Amino acid sequence: RPTTDRPVLDTQTLWQKDKDHFIHPFTDFSVFHEEGCDLITDSEGIHVQDSRGNRFIDGIAGLWCVNVGHGRAEIGQAMADQATRMAYFSTFNNLSNAPAAELAAKLAELAPAHLNHIFYSCGGSAANDATIRLVHYYFNRLGKPEKKRILSRNNAYHGTTYLAATLTGIESNNWDFDTLDHLVTHLSEANCYRRPEGMSEAEYCDHLVREFEDTIAEVGADNIAAFIAEPIMGAGGVLVAPEGYHARMQAMCRANDILFIADEVVTGFGRLGHFFASEAVFDTRPDIINCAKGLSSGYAPLGATLISDEIYEVLGTPQRKGGVLSTGFTYSGHPVSCAAALKNIEIIEREGICENVREVGPYLEEQLRTLSHHATVGDVRGSHFMMCLENVADKITKELLPVEARVGDRVAFEAQQRGLIIRPVGHLNIVSPPLIWTRGTVDRVVAILDEALTAATASLRKDGYL
Ligand code: PLP
Repeated sequence: RPTTDRPVLDTQTLWQKDKDHFIHPFTDFSVFHEEGCDLITDSEGIHVQDSRGNRFIDGIAGLWCVNVGHGRAEIGQAMADQATRMAYFSTFNNLSNAPAAELAAKLAELAPAHLNHIFYSCGGSAANDATIRLVHYYFNRLGKPEKKRILSRNNAYHGTTYLAATLTGIESNNWDFDTLDHLVTHLSEANCYRRPEGMSEAEYCDHLVREFEDTIAEVGADNIAAFIAEPIMGAGGVLVAPEGYHARMQAMCRANDILFIADEVVTGFGRLGHFFASEAVFDTRPDIINCAKGLSSGYAPLGATLISDEIYEVLGTPQRKGGVLSTGFTYSGHPVSCAAALKNIEIIEREGICENVREVGPYLEEQLRTLSHHATVGDVRGSHFMMCLENVADKITKELLPVEARVGDRVAFEAQQRGLIIRPVGHLNIVSPPLIWTRGTVDRVVAILDEALTAATASLRKDGYL
C-alpha cells in the first residue's frame, strides 16, 4: 500500500515531544537524552517504516507479538465496528459483551481440553499477576493458606508489575527496584549451551529435576503454591530446556500438590507452530496457561489466563454468602480488544499460519545455523519462529565479550543499516518474526545477517575486542 495517502507527520516536533515527555520502558537514558527515539510511523505485512522513510524487515514482530503481520485492515475494521457499536461497558456484576463471550469460548476450544475458563487482563504482566492472586485465593479456599510460595527460574521473564517483576529472574531487570522476595524462590534456568562441563543433556535434565526436588524438600510442599515457567524462555535468552524437562517438572508438581503454570505469552498463538505449545510440543497439561501478545497480534492490549475445570470449581463458588470474586480490571474482556483477538484467530486459522510456522520454522533454524562460522557466534538456538544468536569472545571457552563492546547492539545496528530489525539483548540477538515469513524472506534475512555479522566482527577487531 502506498504510504503517500497517509497524513504527513511533523516528525521533528514529535521527536521533541517524545524526548521531553515520554518515559520509555527498558530504555538507556544515557543514549535517550542525547538521541531521543526513532519514530516508527508505518507498517505493512513483514515491514515497518521509520519517519525518515527507511523501510525494514521486522525481525521481532514488534515485540514478539505481531504474529499475523502488520497492516491487517480486517482487524482494524473489526475493532472499528466494535468501537462504534459498543466500545466499552462493564464486565463486573453480571454484565458481559459479545466479543468477550465469543473469545472465551474460542480460547477454551483451542486450549488443552481441561482448560475451559478464561480470566481476562490487559497484557502479559497483568495476566501473571492476576494468576498468582487467583492461585493464592484458590489455596486459601481449600483451607491451605500456607501454600504461598511460587517457584520460578533465574532468567525467566514474566513482566514488570510488582509481582510479575518478582517472578522475573533476570537480575538486571530488578536493579534498584524492590521485589516481593518472600513470595518467590528462583531455581536454575535450563541452559543447555552453558550446562556444566561434561554433563550430557539427559544428565543435565536429571540435575535440574534434582534441584527442583531439593527445593521442594527445603521449602516444604505445604508452603509452595505453584511453579511457573515459559515453555521456551524468551527474553532470558531463548533457552530450550532439555528433552522431557517440562513433563518431569509437571509430574513433580502433581506429586506435591503444586500447580503448574505455563507462561505462553510468547510461545502461544503460533510461534512454535501451534496455538499453545504446552501440550502439542512439550507434552504437558498445565493447570493454568497465560497468554497475551500473539492473542491479539498486538493490535490491541489483551491478556488471558486459561484456568482448569478443577480450579474453576473452587473459584466459581462464592467464598461466603454475598461474597464475589473480587478481582479484575475495568478492561477485563474489553470488547474492542476481544474483537481484535477474534479476527486475529480467524486469520491464523484461515491462512494456515501455524502450518506455515511448522513448514518454514525448521528452515529458519537450519539457515540461521549456517551463520555459526562467524567468529562471534557461539550458539544459534531456539525453535521455529523463536530464535537467538549468542555472541561470545571465544567459542571454545564460551567466554563473553566485555559489556562495553556492546556486541548485540553492533550486530543489530549493522543489520538495521541493511534493512532488518533484530533485537539486541546484551550479548544476544533475538529473531522472533511475524509468522508470515516465507522461505524467500528467510533467505533475504540470513543474507543480511551474514553481512551484518561480518561488519560487526570487523568493527570489534578494529576496536581491539577480538
Ligand atoms: N511473560 C512473558 C513470557 C513475556 O515475554 C512477557 C513480555 O515480553 C510478559 C510475560 C509480559 O507481558 P507484557 O509486557 O504484555 O506485560
